[in-house]
Amino acid sequence: MKKLVFATNNAHKLSEVRAILASEYEIFSLAELNCNDDIPETADTLEGNALLKAQYVFEKFGMDCFADDTGLEVDALGGEPGVYSARYAGEEHNSHNNMMKLLARLGENPNRKAHFRTVIALIEKGEVRFFEGRIDGHIAFEPRGNAGFGYDPVFVPAGYEKSFAELGVDEKNKISHRALAVQNLVGYLRG
Ligand code: IMP
Repeated sequence: MKKLVFATNNAHKLSEVRAILASEYEIFSLAELNCNDDIPETADTLEGNALLKAQYVFEKFGMDCFADDTGLEVDALGGEPGVYSARYAGEEHNSHNNMMKLLARLGENPNRKAHFRTVIALIEKGEVRFFEGRIDGHIAFEPRGNAGFGYDPVFVPAGYEKSFAELGVDEKNKISHRALAVQNLVGYLRG
């Protein structure tokens, strides 16, 4: 069976990809390679960070691999928080503080259009390819719901009334940016 590293230790992401590719690929996590390094994510684009992570693994282990990076991009804020989504609130960053900063920056602005974008960088036999998944929606005026993580309580996907956090994880995972990016990757891997 072909071997492929997913440069992550996020158990949820791993099981999602493993479930889809189980019969064709043996997927290794960073932990399974005994790689506990703090891999730099210093690029200023999602593409750049995904590639940094994939390149790190490829150079260190010489194995085909892929890595992902995700950001929430808000139109009225020129694409913020984007690649800085995880750390938006600065030193005190956590999901709550990040959302509060976002809501404060938007204020009463009626243009609340936003999207989540996931980029996957794949390095296969030394060649780089990118795959993307995107879901459009808008930012609510206040957080709603308890499911999920990150900005889920303030993101309402287009065509829905509920936030991601109100929709619940199963419903969200069917339509999410990450699911779409993974589908694109899998479509390519399967040829
Ligand atoms: P990562 O690249 O998957 O680690 O995502 C970076 C940051 O984007 C996370 O720390 C969250 O703040 C945000 N984020 C990514 N995916 C989601 C999502 O599905 N819902 C809400 N926030 C997300």
